[in-house]
Amino acid sequence: MAVHFEVVAECPVTGARAGLLHTPHGVIETPVFMPVGTQGTVKGLMQRDLENDLGVQILLANTYHLYLRPGHEVIRRLGGLHRFMNWPRAILTDSGGFQVFSLSALRKVTDEGVLFRSHLNGDAHMFTPESVVDVQLALGSDIMMTLDECLEYPAGHEAARKSVRRTVRWAQAAWRHYQERERGGGGGALFPIVQGSMFPDLRRECAQELLELGADGYAIGGLSVGEPRALSLEMVEATAPLLPREKPRYVMGVGMPEELAEYVARGVDMMDCVAPSRNARNGCLFTSGGRVVIKQARYKEDASPVDEKCACYTCRNYSRAYLRHLFLAGEMLFSSLATLHNLRHYLDIMKDLRQSIVFGSFPDRLRVVRAAPGGED
Ligand SMILES: [Zn+2]
Repeated sequence: MAVHFEVVAECPVTGARAGLLHTPHGVIETPVFMPVGTQGTVKGLMQRDLENDLGVQILLANTYHLYLRPGHEVIRRLGGLHRFMNWPRAILTDSGGFQVFSLSALRKVTDEGVLFRSHLNGDAHMFTPESVVDVQLALGSDIMMTLDECLEYPAGHEAARKSVRRTVRWAQAAWRHYQERERGGGGGALFPIVQGSMFPDLRRECAQELLELGADGYAIGGLSVGEPRALSLEMVEATAPLLPREKPRYVMGVGMPEELAEYVARGVDMMDCVAPSRNARNGCLFTSGGRVVIKQARYKEDASPVDEKCACYTCRNYSRAYLRHLFLAGEMLFSSLATLHNLRHYLDIMKDLRQSIVFGSFPDRLRVVRAAPGGED
């Protein structure tokens, strides 16, 4: 097995789990939030910051972007993505499906795969279930994802049903190819993705078929595509219990800080989202007291840190007034300091949730989170 998962504690009330995910590049404590390193970098941060300051155990990188630039073969020849980006810990790569469906123009989906044009220069490319496995093997990722079809929201039931059929066939093809290529072992795991738009019956059907593959873990995809937040949670609630208890469950592309506990409460072990890093660059900082929109005039002479309760490098050393100044002056340092803080905020939330599961106090923790003001500052 390429990865191995242990459930170390489980909340008897909610089903939230604390686990250990063993990968070829280290053990990951779950539930885990994975920072997004789209181009083989978390924008604005050095790998040193991620490793030492934030203690990140696993990063996500995007197959679509690295395939187009610099190219997976280039990365393979340079020793794989870990060596290329100097990252000693685990890497999860997505299948590229989401980016093909959201970024590229003129895509054509067939049973064989998806034909698309690069958003960089318009060149034509084809992703097949097999080629996407090959790309991720070349990158050397610890956890790979199968190619799936991502529907936009809202989608009709019939369109979603057809899409689920295709996603299942693609996952089966990817799995066969992965098993042939990985006969020697030593590579990463391959997770199939449960689709089904916002229809619980299709989610169930998709999950049941994918379970036959006996994969090391399963993802729930097709969320955060414009649907109301309550609906994303509802879909996870309908799908997560169908997935094996002893395998990690990964919900792709969620959530906001106040939602992390909700996903964990539904038995989710892994999440990723661009929210902390993207919001940081846009001047929105997440704190224990709600959001801080740093450009606001009220922070002009505010000598306090972004978050009194945060122990990150930014909060230990800089004032809101200085950060506001950097932001308004368009200084690069702002992005770095803000991203460092927002990611630390996410990682602290996850650490806290994990501890509460281990100590048996998760339901109390969830009540506190639900009572807290989470919305706009
Ligand atoms: Zn901080």
